[in-house]
Amino acid sequence: MSATTTPPGDRTHPTGAASSGTPVTTPGNDPLAALRAAAKARTEARAASQAAHAARRAASTRPKRSADELRAIVERGQAELHGSGLGATDEATAEQVVAWAVREFGDSIAVACSMADAVLPHVVAQQAPWVDVLFLETGYHFPETSGTRDAVEQQMEVTIVDVLPRLTVAQQDEAHGKDLWSRDPAACCAMRKVEPLTRTLGGYEVWVTGVRRDEAPTRTSTPLVTWDEKNGLVKINPLAAWSFDDLLGYAADHQVILNPLLNDGYPSIGCAPCTRRVAPGEDPRAGRWAGLDKTECGLHA
Ligand code: SF4
Repeated sequence: MSATTTPPGDRTHPTGAASSGTPVTTPGNDPLAALRAAAKARTEARAASQAAHAARRAASTRPKRSADELRAIVERGQAELHGSGLGATDEATAEQVVAWAVREFGDSIAVACSMADAVLPHVVAQQAPWVDVLFLETGYHFPETSGTRDAVEQQMEVTIVDVLPRLTVAQQDEAHGKDLWSRDPAACCAMRKVEPLTRTLGGYEVWVTGVRRDEAPTRTSTPLVTWDEKNGLVKINPLAAWSFDDLLGYAADHQVILNPLLNDGYPSIGCAPCTRRVAPGEDPRAGRWAGLDKTECGLHA
């Protein structure tokens, strides 16, 4: 008898095992092989989906609209989304704000993400798969934040865009002295966050932020949609009305990636040299530029 022949009705080798006792495995009968095949199929489908999106974008020829045209869209959006006022019960939900943005701006949308969590990219990507997610790569991030960025890129249907300063950390040290953040954090933020973001936003009609009204006294009147005069484009804040608990609840419900520091005493996460743990009950942003007058990096000023 051939080693690969199984007698009819031989119940001892139901999966086609050879009579020698060595199992013959195929993706159909080997759980590990089946898992690998499924993972490969997912990876290929994901790559094909991303490539199709990139090709569609490359073929799009619509130029960026003028500031006047975009301002008119903001006025329409405010009338449609703000209801009877900020915080009113008829104010639009985050999903409605994103739906409006996708209708108005198509692919010309940039999502800003600090990688404290991936909730905002998730909310937007539900309606705009492979949307650009801008990550300010300051060169000063916690390893956990860089790891979160990588996990988001590998697992979610978004396109990560690393936004780089003109100078590396070493070049900045050489030009302005070591650890500029400790002497002049405003200048450091201007070079490593504000200028690179403004430069990058020039290619979009709208940017989406995760700013919430409950985060800080400076953010209590954050609108859902507004005109960003400094950067010359529309700005939307779909999560403006959310609380921190709303954010965590959404992450739990949708299994969204969270930066591990979030559950380790860092409710607000920025660059490592400028962020410390906060005590329970302390202002969530008290750990940012602690001991200094500075409370904002200038991105949302
Ligand atoms: S948060 Fe600190 S290290 Fe990061 S850009 Fe601002 S000053 Fe520099």
